[in-house]
Amino acid sequence: MLVRATAADGLIRCMAAVTTNTVAEAARRHQTSHTVSAALGRTLTGALLLGAGQKEFDRLTVQVECDGPVGGITAEANARGGVRGYVRNPEADVPLNANGKFDVGAVVGGGMFNVTYESGFRIGLYREPYRGAVPIVSGEIGEDFAYYLAKSEQIPSAVMLGVLVRARESGETFIEAAGGLMIQVMPGADSATVAAIESSVGRTPHTTALIREGARPVDLLRAALGDVPFEILEEREVGFECTCSYDRAVSLVSSIERSELESMLREDKGAALTCHFCNETYRIDEPALAEMVERDRSSVSE
Ligand code: ZN
Repeated sequence: MLVRATAADGLIRCMAAVTTNTVAEAARRHQTSHTVSAALGRTLTGALLLGAGQKEFDRLTVQVECDGPVGGITAEANARGGVRGYVRNPEADVPLNANGKFDVGAVVGGGMFNVTYESGFRIGLYREPYRGAVPIVSGEIGEDFAYYLAKSEQIPSAVMLGVLVRARESGETFIEAAGGLMIQVMPGADSATVAAIESSVGRTPHTTALIREGARPVDLLRAALGDVPFEILEEREVGFECTCSYDRAVSLVSSIERSELESMLREDKGAALTCHFCNETYRIDEPALAEMVERDRSSVSE
């Protein structure tokens, strides 16, 4: 669940989300290590929050191009609250940091933090995408979103992203709580209000601690904003959502050259295609692949 709210006569935009199920689904699909689950989960949550603050876009992509063991993180959010994403090395891991926490900064490392907004293609009016890029500041993801907003969009922001990862006795990763909030200060916002928010954000407990106790997105905002009144504009469901399908896999495979298809049929007795974003594998069996080769052959001879 995600809420979008405003404070200080619309000059402060606030977004908060609880993404425990979304992050759990991503971790299950990609079989990510503990630290990578936290890194991917924060990126997915940040993309949803960033998208919720934006008026017009169809697709928002956050790409963490980094030199740490995770090798790269991609998250893509749509305007309806769906998000999908993947990392280059799901099994990568690093030792706990000095505070005994999963060291997201170390698994990410240095590099670039890229954001792309695309719009218009749903109505056939594809506009030039908006792109912004900043160097990774800490690799902790929340700070990187805040730095991106300040430098690239000139929006001073507070960003808190958290994923509480636990291991079951079997060693399997288990997401106990995930979520975050983003507070963006527009030009002209009253400085006393901004100072009040800064001080209450500084006192707010970890978002995952609140979520574990049952906090909803509105409760996260209430905790972060303290005495500052706010108005809820919208509430929406969020979830892990991919656009791939068996039919799309078939159309991708059918665009492969015929000689290649024939060798797949001969050697592999079928074809298998795995979606990067959700790790779903689509298998095209021997009769279906044979039919594709046959159709291709007849269309060539016509
Ligand atoms: Zn997919």
